[in-house]
Amino acid sequence: MSKNIPELFGCMVFNDDVMRERLPKEVYKSLTRTVATGKQIDPSIADVVANAMKDWAVEKGATHYTHWFQPLTGVTAEKHDAFISPVGACKVVMEFSGKELIRGESDASSFPSGGLRATFEARGYTAWDPASYAFVKDGTLYIPTAFCSYTGEALDAKTPLLRSMDAISTQALRILRIFGDHTTRRVDVNVGAEQEYFIIDKAMYDRRPDLVFAGRTLFGAPAPKGQELEDHYFGPLKTRIAAFMTDLDEALWRMGINAKTKHNEVAPAQHELAPIYANANIAVDQNLLVMEFMKKIAEKHGLVCLLHEKPYAGVNGSGKHNNWSLTANGKNLLDPGKTPGENMQFLLILAAVLKAVDDYQELLRVSVAYAGNDHRLGANEAPPAIISVFVGEELSALIDSIVDGKTYRGAKTAMMDLGIPTIPVFRKDTTDRNRTSPLAFTGNKFEFRMPGSSQNIALPNTVLNTAVAESFRQFADVLEKAEDTDAALAGLLKETFAAHRRILFDGNGYSADWEREAARRGLRNLKNSVEAFRTFTEEKNIRLFSSFGVMSEVEMRSREEIFFENYTKIINIEALTMLEMAARDYIPAVERYIADVADTAAKKLAVCPDVSCAVEKDIVRRLSELNGQAYGAVQRLRALESEAAGVENVRDRAECYCSRVLPVMRELRAAVDGMEELTSARYWPVPTYGDMMFRV
Ligand code: ADP
Ligand code: MG
Repeated sequence: MSKNIPELFGCMVFNDDVMRERLPKEVYKSLTRTVATGKQIDPSIADVVANAMKDWAVEKGATHYTHWFQPLTGVTAEKHDAFISPVGACKVVMEFSGKELIRGESDASSFPSGGLRATFEARGYTAWDPASYAFVKDGTLYIPTAFCSYTGEALDAKTPLLRSMDAISTQALRILRIFGDHTTRRVDVNVGAEQEYFIIDKAMYDRRPDLVFAGRTLFGAPAPKGQELEDHYFGPLKTRIAAFMTDLDEALWRMGINAKTKHNEVAPAQHELAPIYANANIAVDQNLLVMEFMKKIAEKHGLVCLLHEKPYAGVNGSGKHNNWSLTANGKNLLDPGKTPGENMQFLLILAAVLKAVDDYQELLRVSVAYAGNDHRLGANEAPPAIISVFVGEELSALIDSIVDGKTYRGAKTAMMDLGIPTIPVFRKDTTDRNRTSPLAFTGNKFEFRMPGSSQNIALPNTVLNTAVAESFRQFADVLEKAEDTDAALAGLLKETFAAHRRILFDGNGYSADWEREAARRGLRNLKNSVEAFRTFTEEKNIRLFSSFGVMSEVEMRSREEIFFENYTKIINIEALTMLEMAARDYIPAVERYIADVADTAAKKLAVCPDVSCAVEKDIVRRLSELNGQAYGAVQRLRALESEAAGVENVRDRAECYCSRVLPVMRELRAAVDGMEELTSARYWPVPTYGDMMFRV
């Protein structure tokens, strides 16, 4: 039966249409004005809005409400309260007040605060974010909120993002004014997040403790087939996967999420979903919902969705391309138009982004740094750990001509003629794609490809917004004072492009040549999370965030602490999981197999003393050797792991996990994977790579 998608779309969202229909005109106007201009909400309308929300939610089957927020755990948090309110001794009514809508108070002591909040100041507040629509899910009204400590410090990912959106809007408006736009009131950031993920059969997943505890396989010999045939990318969808995707799309559409594109990705059992871009705040909230729905709906199909950046070694990992642009009154400010060389406003914005990325490379790098993403970045598949920008041939030539003071002729747009009469001739893009660039200009937006598949993209966007706001601020300071704006503008462009051209790179980001070249250019190469974290509170970064009020030094230091802590906890869990699997599953399984093979040899010899037992001997010898190595690695890992866990200072602890624990984990894995290749499948205690990736 075909469904009426337009009718279904957004049916669980308290969106603009619903508000217009259900709120008194004045209240509706006041609320939308708040959202459009980013101004404070008028508290007197809160009761009316709350009541309308509650009535609507109850019609949708809700009995509870929750303040939904983004603590620094990386996932969302919610606590459900029923609408019920007692009347007399044995009756209730459904109630929801403006006060309950605007502010929630909760014990925040079990959320990470990076030392911001001692447990005796456990109180935390959630505050309604009217710019992101409330929605009903599983019988509860969800209210997107910001989360802060009793003393007002942001304990979440959303608050700095919202502040950064304000910062960039304010500074971008100054730029627009210089170009004669005096009417635009707000510049919006748009984000489209392409979400990659893996799917695995639930029964297989349940038998892999590493997937259950760590989200990635910590052991596993490669399957005979990987991604080398390139037959999975854009390949036809398997029936089971297609059914899951159909359900997922419908669930997301109900939530008002524009799920648009779905396809198979490069690695076996890897897929992607891309929504149509939205306002950054909403896009971040919606991406969190997308990830949640992927997991829940997969389960309904007897599947598990793996959002980890690197579930399997040897095949591609998963990222989340973050497409970013700026709009004013619906017009994309990153659209170069047909003749970018004459579009001074575009060139200035382009210069601002290049400058921002060059000046704050480290911050962009930290914004995507965490244990899971270390398996992607710089690992020959995802963007390298060095930040650079790809703008394509045309813009590169244009930038060069500006710096070198030459006239720019403009790229000729070529027509593509395939030589087949029935296929229409079409215009070619003036830039080809570059797949290895961390940040690529793709026509009218920047695509930041470093974020990992599991991460909340609030921080990468917070960094982008704030760094670009700083470029705008510096530009506006110069241009507003200039007597001859055109001359000042030309000078500024030349100067900025000359100073920051070094961040442009169009070549192969995976090559060793680039590492050397980048070093020569003075670009930072922060190879792992721990190296990256150390740069977060460098003085210029503190100055940047605090000058715009996006994050105070205290808020930054608390986040830094959480970065390190989170890293050590993840590696610790992985190490403990490996120890458990090796000691309790792999080593005993191999022992059993060795014993049976030895038994076979003994039996053979009993019957036929001169028979050859070369096979048995060889298997027993080689497996005993490897099992010995595995056992040795277990002993060393156990000792090292407890040593690392005991390191007092969190930075040193993270360093110890990174430089000492990880290598032993790799040794243990190598021994076990070696045994997997020699051990009878019947004895092997867990599903193999082949099972997990190809039997979905
Ligand atoms: P690809 O990156 O594969 O070329 P698309 O061009 O379709 O794919 O875009 C990928 C993502 O970028 C989608 O989520 C899309 O909505 C988003 N996107 C497109 N235009 C913009 C824009 N101006 N600002 C932000 N995101 C955008
Ligand atoms: Mg893309």
